[in-house]
Amino acid sequence: NQQVVLKDYVNGFPKESDMLLNDSATINLKLPEGSNAVVVKNLYLSCDPYMRDRMSKSQGSYVESYTPGSVALTHCQIFQSVMNEYLIQHSNLPEDMDPIAGLGVAKVLDSGHSNLKKCDLVWGGTGWEEYSIINAPDTLFKIEHTDVPLSYYTGILGMPGMTAYAGFYEICAPKKGEYVFVSAAAGAVGQLVGQFAKLSGCYVVGSAGTKEKVDLLKNKFGFDEAFNYKEEQDLDATLKRYFPDGIDIYFENVGGKMLEAVLPNMRLKGRISACGMISQYNLEQGGGVRNLFHIITKSVRMQGFIVTHYFHMFPKYMDMIMPLIKQEKICYVEDLAEGLASAPAALVGLFSGRNVGKQVVVVARE
Ligand code: NDP
Repeated sequence: NQQVVLKDYVNGFPKESDMLLNDSATINLKLPEGSNAVVVKNLYLSCDPYMRDRMSKSQGSYVESYTPGSVALTHCQIFQSVMNEYLIQHSNLPEDMDPIAGLGVAKVLDSGHSNLKKCDLVWGGTGWEEYSIINAPDTLFKIEHTDVPLSYYTGILGMPGMTAYAGFYEICAPKKGEYVFVSAAAGAVGQLVGQFAKLSGCYVVGSAGTKEKVDLLKNKFGFDEAFNYKEEQDLDATLKRYFPDGIDIYFENVGGKMLEAVLPNMRLKGRISACGMISQYNLEQGGGVRNLFHIITKSVRMQGFIVTHYFHMFPKYMDMIMPLIKQEKICYVEDLAEGLASAPAALVGLFSGRNVGKQVVVVARE
C-alpha cells in the first residue's frame, strides 16, 4: 500500500522533499467481523491550501497537525528499550507511519457501515495512499451522480465548490450590477466565484499569477476583466483602473498586499468574504494589515468563514450546481497530476501557483 508520508514538521515554504513515498506499508483489505469501518480504494486526492497548516506543529490552529514520520520513528525508538516483543512484530518501522490525510474520492471495497456497501463511490476524508481504512465513515459522502467526472467531487462538487457557494452567496449576498473582485481567481474556489458572480449579473474582475491564467479567466470563465498581479507595480492603481467606481464585493483568497490594496477601494457598504489568505500561510510570523481603517469609513462588512460550518447546505448547493454543469452554464478546470508519486510536487505547487485550476492527484481511475 504505497503512501505519502510527511517526514517532519515544516517551517516556511513546503518542499517536495518534506514528504516521502513509503512503499513498504501493508493493509488488510478485508475488515474483521463486527467492524464498522470502511475499506476504500483511493481514486482521486485533493490538494488543498489548508493542508499546509497541518504540516506545522499545531499552535492553536483549527486543523489538527499531521504526525510526521520522524515522530513515528521517535516513538518506536522509545518503545525499543521497553517493548522488545512489539519491535519484533513491527521491525519494518515505516509501516507505523500515518500517511498524509486529506479529502478524496474513493471506491468502497469492504464496509461495516450500514449506509455503504462494496463498489459504492464516496468522497470525504481519506489518506494519501492507495487503499485506506476509514474508521469514521460518517465523514464520507456517498456519490449519487456518476454521470460527471468523479474528480469533480474534489472540486466543484466537493469542498471547494461548497466554499465558493457559501462564501459568495451567503456571506456577500450579491446583487445584480455590483462590482466584484476575486483573487486567486483561476484556482479551485476562485474560478467558481467568478462564474457565480457572472450568473448573478455582476461585473467581475479576477487576479491570477500568470498570463495563461489571465487568459483562462477572460476566455473560459467569462470574467469581464483579469490581470496578472505579479506584473503590477502598484496594486492600488491597478484596482482603480479596473474599478473606477470602487468594489462592492471582494472575495479574499490571498491576503497580504492584495487585501491592503483592496481596502481603500471598497465602496460604501461593501462586503469582503475572507475565505483564505494563502500569501500568509508560509510566513514564520503573520504580517499585519494596513488600511483596515477603511472598513469603518466605508461601513464595510468583512466576514471570515470555515466551509465545514456550511456543510448542512450541501444538498441545496447540489440542486443548484448539477443543472448548471449539465446545461454547460458553468465549467470547471482541473489540473490532474498522475500517480501518488506526483502528489508532493502537486501539493507544494499550490504555493507557487503551479496549478492551473483545481489541483487533483489521480491515484487510480476505477
Ligand atoms: P487554488 O486552487 O486557488 O490554489 C492556490 C493558488 O493561490 C495558487 O494557484 C496561486 O495562484 C495562489 N497563490 C499562491 N501563493 C500566493 C501568494 N503568495 N500570493 C497570491 N496568490 C498566491 O486554491 P483553492 O481555490 O483551493 O483555495 C483558495 C483559497 O481559499 C485559499 O486561501 C484557501 O486557503 C481558501 N479556502 C478556504 C476555505 C474555508 O473554509 N474558508 C476552504 C477552501 C479554501 P496564482 O497563480 O494566482 O498566484
